[in-house]
Amino acid sequence: MRAEIVKMSADNLNIEAIRKAGTILKEGGLVAFPTETVYGLGGNALDPEASMKIYAAKGRPSDNPLIVHIAEMGKLSEIAAEIPEKAKLLAQKYWPGPLTMILPRAAVVPKETTGGLDSVAVRFPSDRIAQELIRAAGGFVAAPSANTSGRPSPTMAEHVIEDLGDEIDMIIDGGQVGIGLESTIVDFTEEIPVVLRPGYISLDMIKEVLGEVQMDRGLLITDSNVKPKAPGMKYRHYAPKADLTIVEGEMDAVIRAINTFAAEAVDRGTQVGIIATDETREKYPLGIVKSIGSREDEDSIGHHLFEVLREFDHCQVDAIYSEAFFTPRIGQAIMNRLLKAAGHKIISVSES
Ligand code: AMP
Ligand code: MG
Repeated sequence: MRAEIVKMSADNLNIEAIRKAGTILKEGGLVAFPTETVYGLGGNALDPEASMKIYAAKGRPSDNPLIVHIAEMGKLSEIAAEIPEKAKLLAQKYWPGPLTMILPRAAVVPKETTGGLDSVAVRFPSDRIAQELIRAAGGFVAAPSANTSGRPSPTMAEHVIEDLGDEIDMIIDGGQVGIGLESTIVDFTEEIPVVLRPGYISLDMIKEVLGEVQMDRGLLITDSNVKPKAPGMKYRHYAPKADLTIVEGEMDAVIRAINTFAAEAVDRGTQVGIIATDETREKYPLGIVKSIGSREDEDSIGHHLFEVLREFDHCQVDAIYSEAFFTPRIGQAIMNRLLKAAGHKIISVSES
């Protein structure tokens, strides 16, 4: 293990360790840290070599741009060449928070950080540890999710250690993150703002502030000729090692179908994994059943999604069946991740 691991919490900050982490970042090193969405893998956003190190540590294609994290509103104008009025409005409403805005790039931001693009992705996180670290590092921290490319995003320090413990200099362990899904990305380089990645801040919450907003066509259509505009959204992602299939439909029919698949697996001499909820977990007698949360509390489902996918990597299952979670507010964000993890394999069942 190469990384130094330092534990702290938002109301008991270890200022000395944050200062040390800030120095590591200023000198071109890499530090993973908690945010309210998922853990980030930080490097100095203005240092092209630090960005190259991030791509290398994650095994991430270098055409997949990084999000630049700031910790003061005033810093935005230093890295964005232009800030449209609508972007200012949205930032006023949801920053600090789980919102990333795509804006024209200022020249100080190296192309390495933006994957060669002339735009830059910017976020002001609300997590206190993240904010203190960003300030200690000089104000601009490039931070994609702190997982190996393609694996589920990390929601606790143990996930970061598992993926990147040997690759980076320090990991700040701030416990489990709050939201568990990556930020909502809104692109302001188009006339009408476009949501490139759904997240905790829903389309409706953005519409409330901006009026007209579009959803990226590449997110809505699974046609491989329509490419999502966020380069990262085109990659297979979040995938557990076992084959994942989503089963959608009326609840009783879903339970019956999943139990049939589980029984067939037992006949073949294998086990299946089942992603259920607190309300349904008792209804699956076979297989390894994990509850992702409660349908009464959709945030709990978002919060546990990546954790449950990772847990199945430590179980002897070769197939996983999951209920679908089209919940009212963040269902779009949850199902975007789950569908990608399943390679878009979804079976619709109906009451017979
Ligand atoms: P992650 O850092 O792992 O949350 O991923 C960042 C996401 O933001 C990826 O899907 C990127 O493709 C996307 N992204 C970052 N910068 C830009 C940009 N300038 N234009 C479009 N998408 C971007
Ligand atoms: Mg990621």
